[in-house]
Amino acid sequence: MTYSRSITLVLTHDCPWRCRYCGFRSDHEGLISEDRIDRIVREASEGGAKEALLISGERPGTMPHIGSELAQRGYPDFWSFAAVVADRFREAGLFPHGNFGRMTEHELRRLRPHFVSMGMMLESAVDDPGCAPEKKAVGRKAGIEAAGQAKVPFTSGILVGWGESQKSRLQSLEVLSGIHSQYGHLQEILIQRYVPNQGSSWPAGAPPTLEEYREMIDFWRKHAPGVAIQIPPNLEPRWFELLDELDDLGGISWAKDEVNPSRPWEQLEHYRNLCRRAGRELKERLPVYPTHATEEWLDPIWQNRVREEG
Ligand code: SF4
Repeated sequence: MTYSRSITLVLTHDCPWRCRYCGFRSDHEGLISEDRIDRIVREASEGGAKEALLISGERPGTMPHIGSELAQRGYPDFWSFAAVVADRFREAGLFPHGNFGRMTEHELRRLRPHFVSMGMMLESAVDDPGCAPEKKAVGRKAGIEAAGQAKVPFTSGILVGWGESQKSRLQSLEVLSGIHSQYGHLQEILIQRYVPNQGSSWPAGAPPTLEEYREMIDFWRKHAPGVAIQIPPNLEPRWFELLDELDDLGGISWAKDEVNPSRPWEQLEHYRNLCRRAGRELKERLPVYPTHATEEWLDPIWQNRVREEG
């Protein structure tokens, strides 16, 4: 069982869209300050994080106030800003993983040398859980395909527990496995339970039963063998009952979960002890899996860094 010691840095919560399930977005926050970036880089190094998860609202650079701030601070666009912040973490010895929503193949290729891996949830290929009209399944699917075309080691997954059927969950997994069979870039998928946060106006639905979780996991193993399955343990309190079936617990941090602030993680020792009791050892991993730490998937700078980590 693996996990990643991580810290999250939100480049901005600002997002032009309004999804009903979202408790993350804001309108006029602006970009994170240089001082705060310095503080988080320091905190990440001192806390022993390996993964720096950099996130934002979707295409914040299209918002006029963000465009003006980028220009004032000397960045040609949002992707340049994201690249510079990622480099600050790399220089401090961390491995940046980016999740900025849907990006084009060209944008992903620009960020590829700066991030060891990237991600975006499919959520659902069948229904839209209260998404903004701009954020439809067809667009998310295209974004995941673009990451495959850009040869980016990628994390995706489905959102469960917002009112969807088991049939739609399996159809969504089938779509992900179909994309993966074409490009081979998925290193892991999340089965992520929806948790309404402050600001979410979409109600939670029935979560999958343990049998339904097991059916999804079996389905995934058959359709995408070798691609790890993760359930974030701070979002699904029954993760322990699925311990035999899982590969990974995802990013675990001493700092808050920036996307689900109402669900902090337990201490790492808590997860370690529960795994040990079930005969599993909890091991730290990097945000790029060994399956993708190769010349085909990583720029030389990252291949060397991964090698140095042993
Ligand atoms: S879910 Fe993403 S795209 Fe939708 S409003 Fe929130 S930040 Fe924006």
